[in-house]
Amino acid sequence: MTANTQNKPATADAMQALMAELFPICRSITGDGVRRSLSLLADVIPLQIHEVPSGTAVFDWTVPNEWNVNEAWVKDPTGQKIIDFGEHNLHLMSYSEPLRETMPLDALKPHLYSLPEQPDLIPYRTSYYARDWGFCLPHKQLELLPDGDYDVFIDSTLEPGGLSYGEYLIPGEIEKEVLVFSHVCHPSLANDNLSGLVVNSFLAQRLADADNYYTYRFVFAPGAIGSITWLAMNEDMLHRVHCGLVSVLLGGDNRFTYKKSRAGNAEIDTVVPFVLEENQQPHDVIDFEPYGYDERQFGSPGIALNVGRLTRAPNNEFPEYHSSADNLAFVSKESLAESLAALWRISQVLDANRTYNNLNPKCEPQLGRRGLYGSVGGEHIKSQEHAMLWLLNQSDGQNSILDIAKTSGLPFDTLAEAAGRLVDAELLATADNV
Ligand code: ZN
Repeated sequence: MTANTQNKPATADAMQALMAELFPICRSITGDGVRRSLSLLADVIPLQIHEVPSGTAVFDWTVPNEWNVNEAWVKDPTGQKIIDFGEHNLHLMSYSEPLRETMPLDALKPHLYSLPEQPDLIPYRTSYYARDWGFCLPHKQLELLPDGDYDVFIDSTLEPGGLSYGEYLIPGEIEKEVLVFSHVCHPSLANDNLSGLVVNSFLAQRLADADNYYTYRFVFAPGAIGSITWLAMNEDMLHRVHCGLVSVLLGGDNRFTYKKSRAGNAEIDTVVPFVLEENQQPHDVIDFEPYGYDERQFGSPGIALNVGRLTRAPNNEFPEYHSSADNLAFVSKESLAESLAALWRISQVLDANRTYNNLNPKCEPQLGRRGLYGSVGGEHIKSQEHAMLWLLNQSDGQNSILDIAKTSGLPFDTLAEAAGRLVDAELLATADNV
């Protein structure tokens, strides 16, 4: 491993600090909170920020009006502010329309959301496409509300504006791209989605310092409408995407879960499980299903990109999900660092994984004559010789280094190094047609 692949403690601290800076910002699928968040990520990587105007048609969807909030609260019959967006932005349902009204408890109640099973937590609710309003509060507070007249005030705007997304392209040796996507639309929730934004930004920063085979494209956009908008805006370049990952929910200490691409047999579907296995980290590999995050847009039949998804515990499968318990305390810098290390290794295996043709395939070539065999040396030379024999034997244009690592039981890095020597000796040539 070079120094570049090590997780420096400073990186974990920096990731945690950025999480803390992003946490209080009220984000949604549009609005100033998303812009502010993207501009904080732009302090880590030179993110290009795009704005797509409200009303733009994107496949079967339309970019919605932009939502911003100044203030929102509910006052009880004694005039006391009992629910206040200023204290926690989860208190206001995302995309709540403006309102100033006094109403009895009975009229207010249908607009109040709580979690009876988790009575101390504030739930996260949205109403992007149906004009509505609502407040979210702990169930135990809801149960104690007295009868009487309540003042409800929502100083929000829902007006033509734009949908913002951030993009960062890191050119590689070839034009084919690896896409890394994370959603930016959640308000004060730490694991979902800040952990993805932070880990992916630091992954991008590290890749920008490396010599990469693939071109890497990082996209930070709102969930669903954001990936749909990005795909609609970039349809003419999608043929360049070799594979990709939706990379989110990476900050809890839950086990890793890799969800395969729709095709299920793309290179990314082999690389990610291999790395999780290699790290001896407990993990699950699950099949694609059209539910979850933006992988279902990338995997729709008319788009059909080989995009899998890496999370720790997936959406809906941890008790803190979409509630005020998904806070900074739920995310540890150790988990962020572990996720960054896993993603870095995934990128390195993907980047080095090639399929070769043996240029001298009739019987084994004379390695000694080329200075590749029988030279005195220690264990390293022995394992290199072993790796060369495997590579020469299996390189028929069908088996990648990763396939050969699995068949031979030899480490991927040993095989990749030996492949480099055989290419230099003109015994192997890349058969990649990615
Ligand atoms: Zn979510």
